[in-house]
Amino acid sequence: MNEKIHWADAKASRVPADRHQLIATGITPSGPIHLGNMREVMTGDMIYKALKSRGVDAELVYVADDFDPLRKVYPFLPDSYQKYIGWPVSDIPCPCGKHKSYAEHFLEPFLSAIEELDIHPRIVRTSESYRSGMFTEQIRAALEHAEEIKGILERISGRKLEEGWTPYYPICEKCGIISRATILSHDPEKHTVTYRCSCGHEGVSDYSKGEGKLVWRVDWPMRWSVYGVTIEPFGKDHASPGGSYDTGTYITKDIYGYEAPIPVTYEWISLKGRGEMHSSKGVVLTIRDMLDIVPPEVLRYMIAKTKPDKTIAFDPGMGLLRLIDEYDRAAASGESREYELSVIASPQTTIPFRHMVTVVQIAQTDDGIFDILKRSGYEIVDESAVLDQANRAKMWLERYAPEDVKFAIQPALPEVAAAEPANVKAAVAAYAAAVSAGDWKADVLHNSVYDAAAGAGITGKELFTAVYRAFLGADRGPRLGWFLEAIGREATLARLNEMTA
Ligand SMILES: [Zn+2]
Ligand SMILES: [Zn+2]
Repeated sequence: MNEKIHWADAKASRVPADRHQLIATGITPSGPIHLGNMREVMTGDMIYKALKSRGVDAELVYVADDFDPLRKVYPFLPDSYQKYIGWPVSDIPCPCGKHKSYAEHFLEPFLSAIEELDIHPRIVRTSESYRSGMFTEQIRAALEHAEEIKGILERISGRKLEEGWTPYYPICEKCGIISRATILSHDPEKHTVTYRCSCGHEGVSDYSKGEGKLVWRVDWPMRWSVYGVTIEPFGKDHASPGGSYDTGTYITKDIYGYEAPIPVTYEWISLKGRGEMHSSKGVVLTIRDMLDIVPPEVLRYMIAKTKPDKTIAFDPGMGLLRLIDEYDRAAASGESREYELSVIASPQTTIPFRHMVTVVQIAQTDDGIFDILKRSGYEIVDESAVLDQANRAKMWLERYAPEDVKFAIQPALPEVAAAEPANVKAAVAAYAAAVSAGDWKADVLHNSVYDAAAGAGITGKELFTAVYRAFLGADRGPRLGWFLEAIGREATLARLNEMTA
């Protein structure tokens, strides 16, 4: 990154350094928490770390908006969830039966993943804040200033709100839904409203006990003022003119006497060939999926190297291999600020991931992996780190690798190799003879192809093809010298001799 200032430092340098800074990130845990959501948390974390490195008193908070209602039966849910639409996700049973609630079902894997990514925020659940009475005064103020808030929303967003609009939705005691009820009366002393739900039920809602919720456009700026948020990353959907950040700026100031946090707008991450990631559309790669394959520091690198306002098009196939190569080069150069921002002590190996992808396709066993690596001149420092990387490579091959990087060593000489014409077999024999005596080194093994081919009167390409056919039964494979180096002298010569016998 040479002299360029990292975006997180640039952002941090514009924040008053003499005040406590609270960076809030958060989402509604209503579905699998994906790579796109991770961008928000990581954006916040990078600014947090940049502030800390400047000596600023800063804190990172992750606000799980688990008091938000379930909007619809998403594609990943059974039809039986129809009955929970409108319920707070903290009150809905978990789909697998192992978690405390629907919200925790999606939160738990996400929170453990961000730990691995070296992100350690304080976790706040809005359901707990509402039910603890933390927002009582603010809800009362919203109800008392309902007309004023309505005016702000209409003026700034340009939308007309209906007659009798209310900033507060009670949870109906009959149908359980956070609904657009009609508020019939408000008793500010008792913190209660009476309401008529769309189901027809009339009841009482005590907002000091979390028996209802402010509408999103009021809830968000209200929380800024109560939690004391000073910086907040959010998706571009909230950042549009007249959007919820705009209206929130006025509401937090006029109703709660608070300055809106410094906004950090981030763009989406799209999945190559599949479009933007949205849980609700089922186009997702969860962070867990990614951490199965990519070391956490590489994921951080991907987010760190791209300014938040630029889209990231993520390609889990060859693009991921290129990303890992790029990370390895950048990390080796040791000059980038991005890595200073990410201090992750995940087990490391010196083996390029791309090479491991070849190794795991040759080796039959864990010991085979170590043998191949030693043959290729790698020192095994940490066996478990090597096996960990090997598992990532296997999983990548299984889930995302394009077909043309996959290969399988055939247990016996393939027919296509046995059927090669005499002049090609002569070239193979000459090649076997040439390499059998020399160093078993990738570049030697690779370059020897050309002389052997020329001597037998065929092209280098024809000889490459013949050797691939001998092992793979296919015309192409990984770079030949490195491939044969990995297979080893004995096994290589045995197969080539069998072919030319
Ligand atoms: Zn569960
Ligand atoms: Zn109802």
